[in-house]
Amino acid sequence: MIRSDEWLAQGLASLLTETQIMRGEAGQMRFTIAMRTTPSKRNWTPSSFHCSTEEVAEVVKWCVKNEIPFTPRGAGTGLSGGALPALGGVVVSLTRMRRILQIDPENRALLAEAGCPNIALTKAATPFGLHFAPDPSSQTVCTLGGNVNENSGGPHTLKYGVTTDHILGLTMVDAAGEIRRLGGLTSSQPGYDLLGLIVGSEGTLGIITEAWVRLTPNPIAIRTVLAAFPNPRLATETVSEIIASGIVPAAMEFMDGTILEAVEAAFHVGLPLDAGALLLVECDSLHNAGQADNEIETVVRICRSNKAIEIRTAKTEDERAKLWLARKKGIGAIGRLSPSMVTHDGVIPRSKLPEVLDFVYRTVSNEGLRVANIFHAGDGNLHPIILFDDRDSRQVAKVVEAGEKIMRLCIELGGSVTGEHGIGVEKIDLLGEMFSEADLRLQEDIRRSINPGDLCNPGKVLPTQKSCVEVKLRRRVAT
Ligand SMILES: Cc1cc2nc3c(=O)[nH]c(=O)nc-3n(C[C@H](O)[C@H](O)[C@H](O)COP(=O)(O)OP(=O)(O)OC[C@H]3O[C@@H](n4cnc5c(N)ncnc54)[C@H](O)[C@@H]3O)c2cc1C
Repeated sequence: MIRSDEWLAQGLASLLTETQIMRGEAGQMRFTIAMRTTPSKRNWTPSSFHCSTEEVAEVVKWCVKNEIPFTPRGAGTGLSGGALPALGGVVVSLTRMRRILQIDPENRALLAEAGCPNIALTKAATPFGLHFAPDPSSQTVCTLGGNVNENSGGPHTLKYGVTTDHILGLTMVDAAGEIRRLGGLTSSQPGYDLLGLIVGSEGTLGIITEAWVRLTPNPIAIRTVLAAFPNPRLATETVSEIIASGIVPAAMEFMDGTILEAVEAAFHVGLPLDAGALLLVECDSLHNAGQADNEIETVVRICRSNKAIEIRTAKTEDERAKLWLARKKGIGAIGRLSPSMVTHDGVIPRSKLPEVLDFVYRTVSNEGLRVANIFHAGDGNLHPIILFDDRDSRQVAKVVEAGEKIMRLCIELGGSVTGEHGIGVEKIDLLGEMFSEADLRLQEDIRRSINPGDLCNPGKVLPTQKSCVEVKLRRRVAT
């Protein structure tokens, strides 16, 4: 049933204070900008919570009673449209629930509210020589709740594991408005692994309000090198060779010549402009500086044998920060090169990187477009960023076409249509190509048992949902 904005606002006002509810132009603009493929901005009211788990539960119960869809939202940095209110209704924004509630250095654990920015967890743990290992490149703004729901990775998750490896317990408001507590400070819990089910569920099984996270000791030694290669193929072949040597670097990041060009134009950091690709490799050790030294020496040797044209080694923390600059600023700098860009996200067996990257360049250039590549190479992630002008509908169609070809190749090679950005609304159509109907039905049954009315973030992740039809129709209208 479609309800007017006014009706929704009045209903929420009976549960919350005025400052907890947000609607109107400002909110709509934010959504329009963040989610270009939003089918409709009709009939939703973003509510900005600065409140308790109990208040979130009250709002969810009210939504369920009135059959209003609700969508959890963190910082909105997700790249597959997961936080879109695809069928309208209420957006539950967690960004005001951002407190660190408890630090337990003895058990290497920390309890925080779901809207806490990722970087704040590490800042709070630093005085104890600890940090929160998952470090998405959006870490200064993205939230713990978003990280949990996307099972986010980052440069250092190659060695330390993705978000699911660092979540001990969750407080969540389920899709009926009941408060649930899953997991806890001990790593082993009896019964089904509900914690594992919720992590990565893209906001479709409930709203996380708090999480206990595992903290990781800071390494005592970190060694960082930046190697420049004449072309992307030599750089990606080097990635496979480094892993085959037995080393697991703390991070191994790839940037191509287009990223280099954009970063240099924006920040003038003195990167070797004749390079076709860069690899940023970091080795660390929790116990023994000699181990980090040995590993980085092996990395340098492999880079040299693969015709690296230049290798820079960081001797100080300042130099290390400079070497990381291209990686940290790369995506933002791309904005200089074209009016619009879309970041794809796939994952492939690491050894296939050279051939898949060749395919990416060929496919996008056949469509008459440019592509830039920057990704966590160590874990086989692939993030081709296609540059285009979204005012030109022919270019938009070519971008979609090229993106789907790339994702299909990922599936063919035994990979997946998402490495870390989730399915959201963007990849729904491709899920049927990865799973059998029976497998999808099982996932749908699980979802229905936890989110029976399909009011919690409808139109996301699974292609078998009825609501999907409506979302697709709206997407077509939007493009
Ligand atoms: C420049 C840039 C770099 C990025 N780099 C990386 C990277 O290195 N690695 C990586 O994995 N991702 C990366 N991302 C993607 C994104 O930042 C991550 O997925 C991040 O975890 C999303 O957090 P968020 O708070 O912005 O969540 P949102 O975008 O707000 O939401 C993401 C999903 O989680 C759900 N959700 C959010 N909060 C809650 C909650 N409290 N309870 C229930 N559901 C919730 C939403 O409904 C949605 O489905 C990057 C994005 C950008 C823009």
